[in-house]
Amino acid sequence: MKSRVFSATRASGRLHLGNYLGAVKGYLALQERSDLECVFMAVDLHTITTPYDAKTLPQASREIIIDYLAAGLDPERVVVTLQSLVSEHSELAFLFSSVVSIARMQHLPTFKDKVKQHPNHVTMALLNYPLLMAADILVYKAGLVPVGIDQEPHLEVAREIARKMNELYGMDFPEPQRFATRGEYVPSLAGAGKMSKSVEGSYINLTDDLATIKKRLAGAPTDSGRGETIPTQGGVANLLKFVELIQGADRRAEYEASYQGAGLRYGDLKNELAAAIFAELAPIQERRRTFEADPKKLEEIIQTGATKARAIASITLKEVKTKMGLG
Ligand code: ADP
Repeated sequence: MKSRVFSATRASGRLHLGNYLGAVKGYLALQERSDLECVFMAVDLHTITTPYDAKTLPQASREIIIDYLAAGLDPERVVVTLQSLVSEHSELAFLFSSVVSIARMQHLPTFKDKVKQHPNHVTMALLNYPLLMAADILVYKAGLVPVGIDQEPHLEVAREIARKMNELYGMDFPEPQRFATRGEYVPSLAGAGKMSKSVEGSYINLTDDLATIKKRLAGAPTDSGRGETIPTQGGVANLLKFVELIQGADRRAEYEASYQGAGLRYGDLKNELAAAIFAELAPIQERRRTFEADPKKLEEIIQTGATKARAIASITLKEVKTKMGLG
């Protein structure tokens, strides 16, 4: 049996550079490996853990799938579909909830962040987010998970659940490990925290044109452009990180030398960076148009993916239920 890979994105906005560099680039690398079976989803059930619009969710989920395909995922080689079409995920999450304490979930930093963001929407679904994520991964017995470093606390929960289920019920779940990319932490354009689609002003979308990228970069905070020590935090540190991720370490070193020497001109840096980002995104946007133009094909890919995913997920769920004495 091939080892499996699982990863996913919430359907709460377009994919941004953080998602692309931190996660999707990992999907693309793993798709090339013939020893692995990969499942990649738009996780629409995770979307309803924070306030959302039911009318626009179906299209938002499909936009994620289009972004995946445009970025280069090949539905002939990997499974691409929507989480809610594979109901085994939520059933397994409920079974997992019997081996996890409420306190463990409440103490997760990711939960606390979301509570701060949405103080009037602290639901059971939000508390259960990491359980559902553990189920997403373990329903495929996936050992490798290409995600950004922000997901490490959730992966730890998945590993704990795997161990518990193995101990208590004699399951053979792997302890899933993160597959890291060079862009495992893409900072926010706004100067603090990570790039996130739920934080306005923090992101560049994969669908942004050159003018939009320039506009977004223009909003990134800077300083006087000169100093003895290179900032390690804030707007300038983040801009340099972007240069490193998109243009390479050598270009970054040149800018650092200017900062410590004659001075750095942020207008020039931002223009050059915008052009480099757009050069990376343009072919993705070109492919996106072909998928946008063929919604029937897209639906076929999603439905075929769901059938393949259910074939695997239903076997795991049946095994868990039998071992737990259910049914
Ligand atoms: P967001 O935080 O923008 O809502 P998701 O939670 O849907 O993004 O994450 C989708 C994937 O993208 C996950 O694998 C996550 O680790 C990765 N990711 C999100 N933001 C970043 C970032 N700023 N840097 C690196 N990876 C990221």
